[in-house]
Amino acid sequence: MGPVGHDLTKSEWEGSDLFRNTSKLFVHATQQMHLDPNIIERLKWPKRAFVVSVPIRLDDNSIRTFIGYRVQHNMTLGPAKGGVRYHPDVNLSETTALAMLMTFKCAVVGLPLGGAKGGIRCDPTKMSRNELQRLTRRYTSEIAHLIGPTKDIPAPDIGTDQQTMAWMMDTFSQEIGFTVPDVVTGKPIEIGGSLGRTDATGRGVVYCIMEAAKYLDMPLDETTTVVVQGFGKVGASAARKMAKIGCKVIAISDVAGGICNSKGLDLDALCDYIEKNKTSEGFTEGDRVTNEELLELQCDILIPAAVSNQITKHNADKIKCKIIAEGANGPTNIDADLIINDKNIFVIPDIVANAGGVTVSYFEWVQGIQKLFWSEKEVNNRLWNIMSDTFRRVVHTAEEHKIDMRTAAYISGISKLSRAMLLRGFWP
Ligand code: NAD
Repeated sequence: MGPVGHDLTKSEWEGSDLFRNTSKLFVHATQQMHLDPNIIERLKWPKRAFVVSVPIRLDDNSIRTFIGYRVQHNMTLGPAKGGVRYHPDVNLSETTALAMLMTFKCAVVGLPLGGAKGGIRCDPTKMSRNELQRLTRRYTSEIAHLIGPTKDIPAPDIGTDQQTMAWMMDTFSQEIGFTVPDVVTGKPIEIGGSLGRTDATGRGVVYCIMEAAKYLDMPLDETTTVVVQGFGKVGASAARKMAKIGCKVIAISDVAGGICNSKGLDLDALCDYIEKNKTSEGFTEGDRVTNEELLELQCDILIPAAVSNQITKHNADKIKCKIIAEGANGPTNIDADLIINDKNIFVIPDIVANAGGVTVSYFEWVQGIQKLFWSEKEVNNRLWNIMSDTFRRVVHTAEEHKIDMRTAAYISGISKLSRAMLLRGFWP
């Protein structure tokens, strides 16, 4: 019988594919870099994990209780930072894995922030605006003691948006008694948001693709075909920006399935259609494909920008692209990585590819604290500098250690973080 601490391995934290996968990736990277075992032990688990009941009155006047989470994985480098997800699959273990990914993402990019994540298990597509407002306000009130501009700063993720952040900011401010815009990022410009934040994650994905194409000596023009899984905040921004730089987006999808047109999709028409109909289902300028078929389409660049665990050992050998740029968190699992690497597909891992969102969230926080706001051009220029520097640093680590990009990204982030942890020491 080992010490009590070992029982953590049987905890609820271990329950999701994403947690098991992220833990394996973490351990794999730490083995390559010969990391101090005490640092490994400390980073395997979150610093704090909160589970809250979120009872709200539905529009039919009945009361329904939802389950909400906020997990703070590590705060060595600064206040915790991470999105809030509204999705039926949200659970403690997945939220913990997403918080862990945020820790490594902030570290690899070099932001003075730690990692957190939150969420509520619900289906926001089946709730009214009033119900969502009540849900958001009650959740914020339940976690109010944990969050704040110097503690933990939430942001949007799947199923949440600028409006959600405005409600969170307002509820927190009402509880404190004065306005605290910097408690969240990704909020509307009118209440202290940053220009460029809405498209930042998708834009960052494209900046990474531009650097990868340069590195691989691959053209990015009208002959370059792009497939995007998930046409939400990240996927739609990335698709539009890829089209803007001259590439051909041939397929996109949402939760209901995808649409494919080998001549290239008319993204303006598609966005108008989705705005009216909420989904691409019924859009006639292309053929319907399932989300599984979409991932297997022949293309140059595949951007998974939906949920985790989409590229697995079951479909990895059927993926036919040159670059995978991970807009989503954890879309590829560790078994698939082995197959993808054997096929010489270049992977821009999630903690690098989608770091544009947290980077501009950091800019929003910095601008808010200074009460001094930048132009969109300045935000985008700063984003470009950080994304391209991060990309090149990770490529350098991959070349130096002769390892894949994902392991290199983990090593790059974890080495910064572990140096900070060793300097701060262990207390008590
Ligand atoms: P979103 O809610 O705006 O969009 C999600 C999209 O994925 C929608 O089109 C939805 O229909 C689709 N989707 C949902 N479940 C699906 C499924 N099972 N199969 C296929 N498609 C599905 O969310 P988002 O903010 O664009 O986030 C997308 C991904 O990007 C997530 O993994 C998120 O963690 C990651 N991410 C988001 C940000 C950000 O700033 N929003 C930053 C970094 C990473």
